[in-house]
Amino acid sequence: MKIGVLALQGAVREHIRHIELSGHEGIAIKRTEQLDHIDGLILPGGESTTLRRLMNLYGFKEALQQSTLPMFGTCAGLIVMAKHIVGEEGYLDKLDITVQRNSFGRQVDSFESELNVQGIAEDIEGVFIRAPHIEATHGEVSVLSTVGEKIVAVQEGRYLGVSFHPELTDDYRVTQYFIEEIVKPSLMTEKV
Ligand code: GLN
Repeated sequence: MKIGVLALQGAVREHIRHIELSGHEGIAIKRTEQLDHIDGLILPGGESTTLRRLMNLYGFKEALQQSTLPMFGTCAGLIVMAKHIVGEEGYLDKLDITVQRNSFGRQVDSFESELNVQGIAEDIEGVFIRAPHIEATHGEVSVLSTVGEKIVAVQEGRYLGVSFHPELTDDYRVTQYFIEEIVKPSLMTEKV
């Protein structure tokens, strides 16, 4: 399968590496026309205000709002997929969640934690960097993982979002899950 990585900002190469380790083709997406040639899209982390500005500039806001591509957002990528962001407007409105940015406080700006992620594995290495958390889920959203009381991974149909950075580790099981369990079935239903 062909999996795109939005290449406006953030850890693009690392995501492409995880896609390749999963046995698929990873493509850096810089123009909206490229969206027609992929089966799923990863929105990487970085800084969500900058990411939104760049997405506005290159026409990705409208293109992705209209798109039915399966999407996987990590960290800032999760923030831009959310319908509600505390104190700000939602952006792509893909995941019916309320996200709080930079929510682990200054003292623990960045940390690692072993995560039990439902349907994927009990020992996923979570790297959190000025990470958001999901304050509330609405509608059909399933919670896949938490750190204490804080939700850090969710899925709603073809949309997957995590607060952490799986691409910064050698463990590609979250990306593999996205491709095998979300992208692949979405292609089958389209063909029926
Ligand atoms: N703190 C960033 C934001 O709010 C996200 C950090 C990240 O993607 N590592 O946009």
